Amino acid sequence: MKPFAYVNPANEKDAVAALSKEYEKALPIGGGQDLLARMKDYVTQPDRLVNVKNLDATVTRANGGLRIGSAMKMVDVAEHAEIGRMYPAVAAAAIEVGTPQIRNQGTVGGNVNQRPRCWYFRNEEFVCYKKGGNRCFSPEGENQFHAIFGDGPSYIVHPSSLAVPFVAYDATFRLLGPKGERMVKAADYFTMPTKENVQRENVLEPDELLTHVILPAPGNMKSGHYEVRYKASHDWPIAFATVLLAMNGSTVQGARVVMGAVAPVPWRSQAAEKALAGKPITPASAAAAAEAALTGAEPLSRNAYKVQVAKTAVERAILQAAGLPIA
Ligand SMILES: Cc1cc2nc3c(=O)[nH]c(=O)nc-3n(C[C@H](O)[C@H](O)[C@H](O)COP(=O)(O)OP(=O)(O)OC[C@H]3O[C@@H](n4cnc5c(N)ncnc54)[C@H](O)[C@@H]3O)c2cc1C
Repeated sequence: MKPFAYVNPANEKDAVAALSKEYEKALPIGGGQDLLARMKDYVTQPDRLVNVKNLDATVTRANGGLRIGSAMKMVDVAEHAEIGRMYPAVAAAAIEVGTPQIRNQGTVGGNVNQRPRCWYFRNEEFVCYKKGGNRCFSPEGENQFHAIFGDGPSYIVHPSSLAVPFVAYDATFRLLGPKGERMVKAADYFTMPTKENVQRENVLEPDELLTHVILPAPGNMKSGHYEVRYKASHDWPIAFATVLLAMNGSTVQGARVVMGAVAPVPWRSQAAEKALAGKPITPASAAAAAEAALTGAEPLSRNAYKVQVAKTAVERAILQAAGLPIA
């Protein structure tokens, strides 16, 4: 590992001051589970680490919703009574992350900002688009876990489980930089790769921090969150979905359907939402909406199976949200 300086600021203002305008020169470190692994693999080589575990790690009420400090550990998100009551899909996503050790160490800020798990990106030998190279190795390579939506130029999938329910619940991220704070909707925070910004996954500037996630009042929404993995633990999902349903009697008034691990960003399906609107939830309407959610998927050479996995995740999340049994 390349030597680095370590800064331990007491507050968010000092933490921002210790960052740098230069990309990846100084990096915030939360639990360090993603960042330290990348540093040990020579994928990321910052000169300075800025500890952000001293930032706000609490949950406070805000306009009928909740404001979650980015230093909060995932275990605390999973076990927080108000988060569980008001945003069950957030708690469900948090409890499924990795292992108890990972949830005890990983922070909300680190989870949302963790870098892709693509094995080409994580291997220093492969200088892909994300590391300043001029190609993505996955289309002709081992692409079992890569994107089925998005059409490149990089085919990573976004690795954060929390990001998906945050988008579904229409969360806002508070970012703090040298010029002060700015508020960015979760849906606008994560960016699709283009040739110009392919090295990044979000709009965070190198000298900014994610300090809070602000969840709006949840209203009367029912939620479902369903993840599919190879292993029950110690793994990222192959595909997953968060579904929110606003019901008018027995029919759907409005829906939010967001998929994870299928695209470089949390992938919202308005086609699935439209398919649900005005309908009662039945196994047939859930299956039709899941079919709509995967329309337009473009699997790579080795990941066509993900289409069916994602479809199942959406269908089961819809049934779960409606309180129906999952076959
Ligand atoms: C076996 C295994 C299974 C896993 N399964 C899952 C899973 O199912 N779902 C899932 O989501 N994750 C999973 N993970 C990943 C794990 O959850 C993340 O590595 C962890 O959440 C990162 O949090 P951290 O605080 O340790 O981040 P760090 O490693 O400290 O930081 C990660 C990145 O975020 C940046 N960062 C940290 N805090 C901030 C901040 N406040 N503002 C801006 N940038 C910041 C850092 O600079 C770094 O680039 C798994 C990990 C392992 C090892």
